Amino acid sequence: MSEKYTQMYKELGMDIEKHNELLNALMQIYPEFFLKQDNRPKEMEYFDYVMSEIHGKRIEEILKKKKQGKPLVGTFCIFVPEEIVVGADGACYGLCGGADFSIPDAERDLPRNICPLIKSAYGFKVQRTCPYTQSSDFIYGETSCEAKKKTWELLNELHPTHVMHIPQMKREKEKELWKSEVYDFKKHIEKVIDRELTFEELKKGIEIINKKREAMQRLDRLRGMYPDVVPISGKDGLLINQISFYDDPERFTKKVHELCDELEERIKDKKSVVSKETPRIMVIGTPMAPPNWKLHHIVETTGGVIINEEACIGHRYYKDNIDVENAKTIDDLMDRMLERYMKIDCACFTPNDERIEKIIQMYKERKADGIIYYSLSFCHTYNVESKKVIDRLQAENIPVLKIESDYSMEDVGQIKTRVEAFLESVSFRKQANSFKGI
Ligand code: SF4
Ligand code: SF4
Repeated sequence: MSEKYTQMYKELGMDIEKHNELLNALMQIYPEFFLKQDNRPKEMEYFDYVMSEIHGKRIEEILKKKKQGKPLVGTFCIFVPEEIVVGADGACYGLCGGADFSIPDAERDLPRNICPLIKSAYGFKVQRTCPYTQSSDFIYGETSCEAKKKTWELLNELHPTHVMHIPQMKREKEKELWKSEVYDFKKHIEKVIDRELTFEELKKGIEIINKKREAMQRLDRLRGMYPDVVPISGKDGLLINQISFYDDPERFTKKVHELCDELEERIKDKKSVVSKETPRIMVIGTPMAPPNWKLHHIVETTGGVIINEEACIGHRYYKDNIDVENAKTIDDLMDRMLERYMKIDCACFTPNDERIEKIIQMYKERKADGIIYYSLSFCHTYNVESKKVIDRLQAENIPVLKIESDYSMEDVGQIKTRVEAFLESVSFRKQANSFKGI
């Protein structure tokens, strides 16, 4: 793929040699992790294609928009309101890094003991190996955690980076602050298009993203709500969640629905990717940015299956929609949007108890058999919050395992051993419950 797009990469100022190394590394693991899975839904072909062109065709598409004066915005957090960018007919995409590849270059500027997601993303800019970063008019960072907000100061020296202040509590005064941040964001986008967004444009942006979230909610239900059938692997589910941050939202929505139609047929025919006895695991915690497929691969090659992700690359991203009914003015739309964003239950909030209630509810609805609490190394918010979450899960008699890891492969053996032991005990309990008829 790389040769085909060499001219485009040159124009984006990329380090072509290094970028080739990155793509080669990815192309080695992708077939192993994804294409070799048994009994995959046919409609996954589209998502494999998107991955194969993620640094190719999709970049051509967004650059076409740029030539027409439409905004291209890179983000690191689901708090940045993509509806506004999409309303301006631009493209908004996630720049969170999930690869070890760029970390050594980041560590020349950043301390080693901060979360790998930040180092990976920053390292891509240092290396000039991410065509999304290179294409962006600007990057939008936020103040959700200490390491992020200080990194944006350094990133701004390499690429125009704006910072949005994310509230850390949900009182009225924080909501007011958040409102002014979102209005400022809108102004920034309007600067690129050189005019104000109309009511119709903003409404359309919201509706496009609402539809995308509805498709993802449908997929989420099909993945986890049928105790006897799991119609798609957790790895494929995660992959789709990751692609949702890059692909054209309308095309993505259509393709997710096509996949869901196939999954519904599979459920009817009881065509599962695993046997009925396989432990059904929920993963909760920090986001897994591509190509961070490590935990899912370990679980699903060790006898378990993952049925959803309570994370920002997952359920937290698509769980709530924006109600546009009866909205008559731009301010009405903005208010509805603000309401929706304040429902995000990120660990950056204190307190964040609604997250715990939601996890328990999801666990029960999905008849899951166990939970893995996943935290990236040095993510203080999710790591500290894990104590409260795990205590409560244990009080509810829910089996839970905590895994803290980064992107290196050094701890794979150790994680595998812990996952194996966890799945064994969960399996035993599942069997005992089925004898008792629970
Ligand atoms: S975990 Fe928090 S900071 Fe990270 S993307 Fe989600 S909302 Fe943003
Ligand atoms: S995973 Fe945690 S430490 Fe890393 S960027 Fe997100 S909130 Fe910050």
